[in-house]
Amino acid sequence: MPHTFGHLIAGKEVASATTFESRNASDLADVVGVFPEATREQVREACIVAREAFKIWSKTPAPIRGEVIGRLGDAFVREKDALARLVTREMGKTFKEARGSVQEVIDTCRFFQSEGRRLYGQTVPSEFSNKELSTYRRPLGVVGMITASNFPLAVPSWKIVPALLAGNAIVWKPSSDASAVAYAFGKLIEEAGVPAGVVNIVFGGGRGAAGSFLIDMMDEGLLNKFAFTGSTAVGRVIGEVAGRNLLHPTLELGGKNPLVVMRDADLDNAVQGALFSAFATGGQRCTSAGNVIVDAPIYDEFAKRFLAAVAEIRIGDPNQVTDVLYGPFINERFFEDWVAHYDVGVADGATLLHGRKRITPDNLPLGWVGTDPEAAYYGWPTVWGDVRPGMKLFQNEVFGPTINLVRVDGIDEAIDVANAVDYGLSSAIYTMNRDWAFQFKDRIEAGMTSINNTTVGAEAHLPFGGVKGSGNGTRESGIWVLESYTYWHAVNDDVSGKLQLAQMDTAYAEPKGAVDVASLV
Ligand code: NAD
Repeated sequence: MPHTFGHLIAGKEVASATTFESRNASDLADVVGVFPEATREQVREACIVAREAFKIWSKTPAPIRGEVIGRLGDAFVREKDALARLVTREMGKTFKEARGSVQEVIDTCRFFQSEGRRLYGQTVPSEFSNKELSTYRRPLGVVGMITASNFPLAVPSWKIVPALLAGNAIVWKPSSDASAVAYAFGKLIEEAGVPAGVVNIVFGGGRGAAGSFLIDMMDEGLLNKFAFTGSTAVGRVIGEVAGRNLLHPTLELGGKNPLVVMRDADLDNAVQGALFSAFATGGQRCTSAGNVIVDAPIYDEFAKRFLAAVAEIRIGDPNQVTDVLYGPFINERFFEDWVAHYDVGVADGATLLHGRKRITPDNLPLGWVGTDPEAAYYGWPTVWGDVRPGMKLFQNEVFGPTINLVRVDGIDEAIDVANAVDYGLSSAIYTMNRDWAFQFKDRIEAGMTSINNTTVGAEAHLPFGGVKGSGNGTRESGIWVLESYTYWHAVNDDVSGKLQLAQMDTAYAEPKGAVDVASLV
């Protein structure tokens, strides 16, 4: 019998009348756990609990909060393999990628544990000798968080860890496709010594369910900040609600990321980079490459080598085979959308170079290394040729194993085409030409750029985020994320004992008569 879990509210497990099952993404017969579907009242209760807990946590000295974050990192080190196995089982990432994603949480904790001993403000000179000016970073209050399924530990940690370090309390609605992983995260937060009620986890669906209820809490005045990772459509809704409540949300949204291969590129490196960018995690990354933009003189050679590599991609159940490039779809919705994109490609007039939709016993790609492809949703690696800007295939994010090849002629067209999408998350160029790399770096409309590396991947101390349809300019990771979870408090400390007014009572130095330098010598 699968275990039934509760919401984590005020340090207690709380049940709901309605439940849902979270299943092994690679074997849908395997139920990972049964989870409660939060009601509006339960989400509201979690916010009220967090408001109370905030009063204590925000007054806990930052170095002590940092120590707790350090212990959270230690717990993740100890549980690294168990957590990675759970990530692989619940959402289908390969074990190697899952371990990497746990390491990203550890790196984030390591970075922020010491920030507890910095969290610097500034001393600022005053216009008066008996007055001092200073700034403090203050926590915002209660943060509502909603996250996606594809990075169920790393991405939430980018929000939870700095928000906690800065003294905020949290109500987190994780993806229903990664509920067990989120529950484990919550228990490790408890173990680390975060007081009850500071981090509350409510489980459930998105639209019309726990996700919507949490967004509504902005209108009820129970949240001071919202942080979201997911699709651009939902991000826009959150942005609108946050806007009318004068909150500045963190919005990390979708992508259709360009990877440019120029005529002078190291082709083997570029093929490997494009392969991983397109197909790692089965293309279910916000940073997955969407369009590979290839310089005309090497288009045919690149396509030949790329298609040869695609034909050999190993696909299977990542719980059983460790060296697959990708496993199953995270959920049926992503699978259905990906199946539908075949019709889009045909209607667009693109050329299907590789791919035959769902993997079934009668429709196995060369690299299939699993047992039963119908135990879950597995897709053929799919490659489209003759894709042009303006096509839906070029423009729309498809969250699955598919990639477009787009022919261009020269660096100017490559950059124009790379910028011709509504998104602006990640980007990459393969070239040995220093000037082309520089031009790309200078003119690309993206939050992140790699030169001779993939569109995917992130380090825990570099800002992560996008422009255009990929976000609202907020950044996660590194010192930059602190701007999202604190406000600047400016303090005037006056010991003069009298009314003294800046600009009006300031003893400005009087200038003497003007010096005419030419008349001096
Ligand atoms: P999604 O927006 O459908 O779901 C994400 C989360 O929002 C889930 O927890 C879901 O339950 C909730 N949700 C969905 N609809 C909601 C609604 N109407 N109201 C409230 N909550 C709602 O996204 P998805 O399809 O599950 O995830 C894939 C998307 O996330 C892709 O677009 C991907 O690019 C993006 N993503 C972005 C980043 C980033 O850092 N920029 C990282 C990972 C994923």
